[in-house]
Amino acid sequence: MARHQPPEARNFDVVIIGSGAAGLTAALNLAERFKVAVLAKGDIAAGSTAWAQGGIAAVLEPGDTFESHIEDTMIAGAGLNHRATVEFVVENAARAIDRLADLGVPFNKGENLSERWHLTREGGHSHRRIVHVDDATGWAVQQALTKAATAHPNITLVPGMVAIDLITSAHVQGERFAARAAHGVYALDAASRQVQRFVARAVVMATGGASRVYQYSTNPDGSTGDGIAMAWRAGCRVSNMEFNQFHPTCLFHPTVKNFLITEACRGEGGHLKLPPAEGATADGSRFMDRYDARLELAPRDVVARAIDAEMKRLGLDHVLLDISHLGADFVKQHFPMIYARLLELGIDCTVQPIPVVPAAHYSCGGVMVDLAGRTDLAGLWAAGEVTQSGLHGANRLASNSILECLVFGQAVADDIAANWEATSRPPAIRPWDESRVTDSDEEIVVVHNWDELRRFMWDYVGIVRTDKRLERAAHRVKLLRKEVAEYYGNFRVTPDLIELRNLVTVADLIVRSARARKESRGLHYTTDYPKLAAEAKDTLLDPVTARS
Ligand SMILES: Cc1cc2nc3c(=O)[nH]c(=O)nc-3n(C[C@H](O)[C@H](O)[C@H](O)COP(=O)(O)OP(=O)(O)OC[C@H]3O[C@@H](n4cnc5c(N)ncnc54)[C@H](O)[C@@H]3O)c2cc1C
Repeated sequence: MARHQPPEARNFDVVIIGSGAAGLTAALNLAERFKVAVLAKGDIAAGSTAWAQGGIAAVLEPGDTFESHIEDTMIAGAGLNHRATVEFVVENAARAIDRLADLGVPFNKGENLSERWHLTREGGHSHRRIVHVDDATGWAVQQALTKAATAHPNITLVPGMVAIDLITSAHVQGERFAARAAHGVYALDAASRQVQRFVARAVVMATGGASRVYQYSTNPDGSTGDGIAMAWRAGCRVSNMEFNQFHPTCLFHPTVKNFLITEACRGEGGHLKLPPAEGATADGSRFMDRYDARLELAPRDVVARAIDAEMKRLGLDHVLLDISHLGADFVKQHFPMIYARLLELGIDCTVQPIPVVPAAHYSCGGVMVDLAGRTDLAGLWAAGEVTQSGLHGANRLASNSILECLVFGQAVADDIAANWEATSRPPAIRPWDESRVTDSDEEIVVVHNWDELRRFMWDYVGIVRTDKRLERAAHRVKLLRKEVAEYYGNFRVTPDLIELRNLVTVADLIVRSARARKESRGLHYTTDYPKLAAEAKDTLLDPVTARS
């Protein structure tokens, strides 16, 4: 088809952007009544969900209580969590896990009759409450959800479709003053390079997080914060963007950049050590006792900062995580995927320690939603890592995030179904306008800006922050925003350009939020304000007042 003939709009009842745990949970719960399209920018299973190793937290053991899971979540979140959200998620956890088991997720069974599932313990949890499928839980969850969605006649899965922007009232044909609402999404078909219109009465944003805004990240390439940037441009508030979780233990390896060594390795008794023979003080000894009485079981932010401090103090490029003392049988049984992958890379973790570094892992902030996943924009709901629901506060407790996807994916579906009569039939939508752009002749601009952005975010907006570094970052973001906007205005969109545009927006939102927080709380640590403020307050950015 010639480029000047825009493809017909594709109409559904609901369009969901994202095919991870949040998007597919919403889809499966909507599909009994509605025709649903689920877009993914690459393969259906290419989001973070499939990469989750540790598991999913829920109160399932006699002796454990909702109150305890709630308290652990609030302690990790440094008091910034919204208690109502935490209660809602914790109380719905067991039901969400039952639904996954019904879909065929083969959670590891308990060791005796009184234990239905085998439960592990992770940092920050005061009980064993993590259900898992060996050390590849996310893969099993993604497979089960994808299989059920593929089999459902009312669900159309659309891989390779890169959402560019939400269709809102601004894109309605012949209408200049329609009420503000979401009516669908413009998306680039990565194969044909045509921009399509997916039009619906309800839109669900489930695009995952933004950790690829940093140079080192445990996330798949697609975690570029697209949904946060799209919602922001469409007029939604975003919140708490300064809280980026850095996973303490990503494999340090010259070629494999984002292989995570699960928290459960420390939960089961792994030790963090300094590498021997790196200098007089780096002697193979453990160091967590200098930072926290909980040692390796301290929450992630504490452990990541401790490793960062030791690396900076001694000029190291990594530290070690040793699980060899747990015994070869135990390691192979509990961490079969990690054991096999490391062995392929020449590291036998049953006899030698694993070199590790911290890396950007999880975005606690995102699009503001209420308990039904509603955003500020009529017709737009959101679920999963793209949101700030109030669950995580200033730091996410391990294994609470897939849980959030499952509980909010369901809540969004329930709310859309309950309020279907209030949604409106979509108006006629203008096709994507390519009349004033040409093909780029300088792809190098995208590659260069991409590298520059991720590097300064790592150096200036990383684990430890200062006012000066944040100011430098703000200056660079401003220059890049201008350059990328110019480029975007002149050239046809490509998947890389769409991601870069979103990454610049997300970097801007993170830097603005970090500069607004004049205290150290949870994952936001600044040497200029090392103390906790008396009052715990969300950082709220409003696109209506923040445009500059
Ligand atoms: C290595 C690793 C280990 C983890 N371990 C755990 C764990 O043990 N327990 C736990 O609870 N959590 C864990 N997490 C976090 C958890 O996996 C994620 O928070 C969660 O899976 C996010 O799910 P989601 O549905 O929100 O997004 P994702 O699963 O990331 O899915 C995002 C979807 O959005 C699509 N998308 C994005 N942008 C666009 C666009 N522009 N157009 C179209 N589609 C788009 C993607 O293609 C994808 O389908 C881990 C994360 C990582 C990276």
